[in-house]
Amino acid sequence: MKKWLLHTFLACWACHFASAEPYAIVVHGGAGADPAQMEPEEIEGVKARIQSVLQQGLSDLKAGRSALRVVEEAVRSLEDDPWFNAGQGAALNSEGEAELDAAIMDGSNLRCGAVADVRRTRNPISLARWVMEKTPHVLLVGPGADRFAQQSGLEMVEPEYFITERARRALRKKQGTVGCVALDIRGHLAAATSTGGLTNKRPGRVGDSPIIGAGTFADDRSCAVSCTGVGEEFIRHQVAGQISQRIRLTHVTLPESVRQTFADGLPDDVGGVIAVNRKGEWVMHFNTPGMSRGAADSAGHFEVAIGK
Ligand code: ASP
Repeated sequence: MKKWLLHTFLACWACHFASAEPYAIVVHGGAGADPAQMEPEEIEGVKARIQSVLQQGLSDLKAGRSALRVVEEAVRSLEDDPWFNAGQGAALNSEGEAELDAAIMDGSNLRCGAVADVRRTRNPISLARWVMEKTPHVLLVGPGADRFAQQSGLEMVEPEYFITERARRALRKKQGTVGCVALDIRGHLAAATSTGGLTNKRPGRVGDSPIIGAGTFADDRSCAVSCTGVGEEFIRHQVAGQISQRIRLTHVTLPESVRQTFADGLPDDVGGVIAVNRKGEWVMHFNTPGMSRGAADSAGHFEVAIGK
């Protein structure tokens, strides 16, 4: 090969890597967990699960998959995992039933879909995506949502499928809600959250997770956010939307926006958030004793933790 040709080739190759677009994934498994009260095997189990979800998500993002697909897949696998309060193993209401909530949002166009009080759809997060893709609506609830899942060919289960012995006994504070935010190599953001809600909740209660702007939000112009904690407070303070709006309207950084939002009236010991922006900067913030969480990105960061 001629020398100049080789140089050009090497320059392009270097340039390709230098200009590689950032990507990142952040996951939470709920802010209910106090590591001091957890058994060692529970801590290891939760961390191992979050680690494997992060690894899968990171390699999917690297391969060019969309943030939307990656957050849906991450949350689906946590819904299928009985350790977490979403899908199978979800927290039960005061009548011992599982009523599931979920939401997903595409930051590239602000399209979003959500479901609440779902009782027979195996993966509520996929139903939320279906609502977003196939209906003109944002939020479907109750039997109508389950019927739509069935008509759409999603996997249906008996209500008992969601109920684990562990949730029934509710011997200890549950692992919380699950959520995921991601940035893909095209610079698009997405957020997804799924939950059984709060243990012993009143039947019919809906938390923040499926409320766009409360527990879930994504906008390429600011950030993607997924929340966990006492849903009523996250609804009241519009936490996910507020974090986004502060960035858009006052041009603060992502960590500063999260800090200000929590400082602006959110009670102590209420929960936490994960968030990511288009630069690939991410935040995992909580004011509870712990939050199961993990983050990984194209710059080589990879961390999983529960306590402070
Ligand atoms: N935020 C959820 C809810 O209030 C619960 C949780 O995050 O653990 O429904």
